[in-house]
Amino acid sequence: MIVVMKVGSPEAELSRISDELKQWGLTPEKVVGKHKVILGLVGDTVDLDPLQIQEMSPWIEEVLRVEKPFKRASRQFRHGEASDVVVSTPEGPVTFGENHPLVVVAGPCSVENEAMIVETALRVKKAGAKFLRGGAYKPRTSPYSFQGHGESALELLAAARSASGLGVITEVMDTADVAKIAEVADVVQVGARNMQNFALLKKVGAQDKPVLLKRGMSATIDEWLMAAEYILAAGNQNVILCERGIRTFDRQYARNTLDLSVLPVLRSLTHLPIMIDPSHGTGRYEYVPSMAKAAIAAGTDSLMIEVHPNPAKALSDGPQSLTPERFDNLMQEMAVIGKAMGRWPEPAVALV
Ligand code: PEP
Ligand code: MN
Repeated sequence: MIVVMKVGSPEAELSRISDELKQWGLTPEKVVGKHKVILGLVGDTVDLDPLQIQEMSPWIEEVLRVEKPFKRASRQFRHGEASDVVVSTPEGPVTFGENHPLVVVAGPCSVENEAMIVETALRVKKAGAKFLRGGAYKPRTSPYSFQGHGESALELLAAARSASGLGVITEVMDTADVAKIAEVADVVQVGARNMQNFALLKKVGAQDKPVLLKRGMSATIDEWLMAAEYILAAGNQNVILCERGIRTFDRQYARNTLDLSVLPVLRSLTHLPIMIDPSHGTGRYEYVPSMAKAAIAAGTDSLMIEVHPNPAKALSDGPQSLTPERFDNLMQEMAVIGKAMGRWPEPAVALV
C-alpha cells in the first residue's frame, strides 16, 4: 500500500503518521520523489481499509494498493517515478537511471592477469566506458573449466581501477565472499545462475554497495523482480536489473535469446534502472553490435559488453568478446543512436 502525501505536508505530520502505522505492525518507508512524498507500507496490508488510513490526516492525498507481489520494486511504490542508482567511482559519481545518459560497462569475462585487465581498462575508458567489468569468481557450467583467479584477481581489479579511474563491477557467488568483494567493487554483480540464491540476495541486500542483478536464464519477469525485492527488503535500495538472454528452444546460432521486450515491460512494472548484456545474450561477438544498438533504441539505461585484448586466447567467453578495436567502432556507432535518443553522455571537457 502507498500513502501519497499532499505537496507541502509538514515533516512532523509524516512522522506522526509513520509512528501510528508502525503501531499497526506496518513498516512505513518514506520515499521522496521529484513531485511528491510517499509513505510505502510493507507488511500485512490485506485486511487494511485504505479509507481508514486516509482518515488519519488531512495531509494524506490518497491511499493506493500496490497490486504486484513485488512491493518495493514496483513502479507504483514510487508513484510512477524512476529511481536513480548513483555509484561512486574514483572519478566521481555515475548515475544509472531512466532520466540520465546511458552508462557503458565493458571488460573481459574473467580477470586473467594484471597486464590484460589494466590494458582493457585503459582501452575501454578511452572509448567512453564508465565501468570495468571482470570476473574474479566465475560461475562455470563445468567444474573443469577455468573458475577465475579468486581473491588474487580482486587485487588486479583494484589495480586496474586506480590505473584507469573506472568503477569496477564484479560477481559474487558465495555469501562468504561478499565483504571482501564489496571492498574492491563499486557494484557487486549477482549472476544469472544465482538470481534465486536467496541467502546471497539477503547478504548483498544487507551491505552498502549497489547490486547488479542479472536475470536468471529461465526466470520469469515476476521471479526476477521478486529476487530484486529480496535485496530491497534487506535494506539496499540500489539495484540495477540486467537482462542477459534467456533459454528458449533454439540455441543453434545464438547462445541465448536476448529479451529486449523487457525494456518496455520493466519500465511499466518497476522504477529500477535497466542494463542490457548483449554479449551473454547472443554468445557471439558478431551479433553484439546489432543488439547493443537495438537496446539503446529500445531505451536501455546501460549496456554491459565483454571486451578482451585477445579473444582467441580468452580463458572464458572468447567467442562473444569484442577486441578493443571492435569496441571502439561500436562506441561510435552507439553514439549515433544514443544521441538520437537523447541519452548519449557529453564528452568530458579536457582541462588545460
Ligand atoms: C558474466 O557476466 O560473465 C556472467 C557469468 O554472466 P551471466 O551470469 O549472465 O551468465
Ligand atoms: Mn562471461
